[in-house]
Amino acid sequence: MIKTTFAGAIALVFLIACSREKEGPKPVSGASITGTISAETIEKFSGKKALTHIEALTVFGPRPIGSEAYQLSLHYLETKLAQLGWKTKRQSFTGITPIGPQEFTNLLARYSPGSEPDWNSSTPFLLCSHLDTKLYAEFEFLGVNDSGSSTGVLVEIARVLSEKNEGAQNIELVFFDGEEAILKNINRKDGLYGSRYYASQLDKRRVKPQIGIVLDIVGDPKIPLLIGGDTHQKLKSHTQSAASKLSLQNWVKPHPMTIIDDHVPLMNRANLPVLHLIGNFSEATYWHQKGDTLDKITFGALENTGKLTLQVLHQLTK
Ligand SMILES: [Zn+2]
Repeated sequence: MIKTTFAGAIALVFLIACSREKEGPKPVSGASITGTISAETIEKFSGKKALTHIEALTVFGPRPIGSEAYQLSLHYLETKLAQLGWKTKRQSFTGITPIGPQEFTNLLARYSPGSEPDWNSSTPFLLCSHLDTKLYAEFEFLGVNDSGSSTGVLVEIARVLSEKNEGAQNIELVFFDGEEAILKNINRKDGLYGSRYYASQLDKRRVKPQIGIVLDIVGDPKIPLLIGGDTHQKLKSHTQSAASKLSLQNWVKPHPMTIIDDHVPLMNRANLPVLHLIGNFSEATYWHQKGDTLDKITFGALENTGKLTLQVLHQLTK
């Protein structure tokens, strides 16, 4: 059996990227890590503040493909992130769906007060959530936990990191459009539209990210937060030790199976080691139902998710 170290895996990704890039004109390199996140900054994450963003998105109504609420949500995130010193970039594209070609827009954000970031380069870490909600004609699907919760957590992480500029420069936030399938279930052609496109565009960057972290359905304290089965072994270990440190080991559970989500294109298309954190939706009777409303999430669960993510980032950068 070949034992691969985490550094080895990153080197391998780097080598794969380099050998692939030899065919093209530009050299590539992996983004380097500068600075870490202190315990004090981790402690500042506020579940109550994360919740305010989710409440604001909920006021816009369901935000499925092509909706006005999705556009309002994009504008909301752009405004909030700009106030915190983050520059945003819309990544729009046309995706082929079961109901014909549709327009999608991902939102990317980097901490870069005063200057425009180099979008052809990368930060070491991608921290991702989807922003769209599943399309239903027959009822109002607000998607508070799926995908409001992870979106709110990312904006609050942006706040705590930018306060003292601790480690913010290591992170690109990505809010994906079109995670949800238009038909019932995600398959190779339906769903993950935004992450598939985003991963394909990473090829064009001069400097590649090192790790992708994807959060989804993270606001319900009653359902376990799963570490997806295809999470890189080293990232899984970091997450379990971070959970122990925060006394969350009874809530954060490794899962034996792959759960299809936005991390899959990052892993398969962009060759990134990934961490996938997702609430166990199979235990949530309201999942993809009209009951995915504000009463299902708590600021405590949001706070636990935010601190867990920051603790993992701390461990990766110390
Ligand atoms: Zn969903």
